[in-house]
Amino acid sequence: HRMKKGLLILISAPSGAGKTSLVNEIVVRDKNLIRSISHTTRIKRIGEEHRKDYFFVTATRFEEMVRDHEFIEYAEVFDNFYGTSKMFVNQYRGQGLDVILEIDWQGASQVQDLNPDAVSIFIVPPGKQELETRLIKRNKDSKETISRRLSQAKEDMEKARNYNYVIVNDLFEKAADKLLTIIAAERLRTVNQLFNNDVVRSLLSAK
Ligand code: 5GP
Repeated sequence: HRMKKGLLILISAPSGAGKTSLVNEIVVRDKNLIRSISHTTRIKRIGEEHRKDYFFVTATRFEEMVRDHEFIEYAEVFDNFYGTSKMFVNQYRGQGLDVILEIDWQGASQVQDLNPDAVSIFIVPPGKQELETRLIKRNKDSKETISRRLSQAKEDMEKARNYNYVIVNDLFEKAADKLLTIIAAERLRTVNQLFNNDVVRSLLSAK
């Protein structure tokens, strides 16, 4: 049986752009997609679940994993550490699933350096005012955190330049469709079909 290799998809956004809801939507709509579950030292928010939203770990455990090279990338975001497990990503890509990393720009840049074939997508809110409204409406964080996230978000927007694609999240359904369109096109790249499509592989290697 031939080795399969799913896409590595990086999705970043300033907080409040609606990234998490979009990713949740597309993994439901497309069965070949899986979201990588990161490790973090952040405190669990109300409604979040260990192993589902994140692996919530202590700083000591996180440092151990860094030391043992268990992460593809890791970064400090808002005073907490976040990292993507090598094992998680390799396991699912090896099964031919397309793995989505919902990570910040620092992590995305580390992954892009190591994997030039990663597909990178940046999601932006429809405007600065809208971003502020969303962060306040989400209301899961303290006032200080919200205002810090807001100024960070404005700075982060510049980072979109380093991504292959940018999506303005104005209408949720349309933004989700755009994400799935990008992924569908990436799957059709010749190199990817040589890996994952038996018909293409046999026709292109036929003498
Ligand atoms: P939150 O605390 O709101 O869940 O996430 C804060 C930020 O950390 C978001 O920008 C999110 O994309 C990013 N993040 C989540 N997991 C990872 C990860 O594994 N690596 C990196 N570099 N960033 C992550």
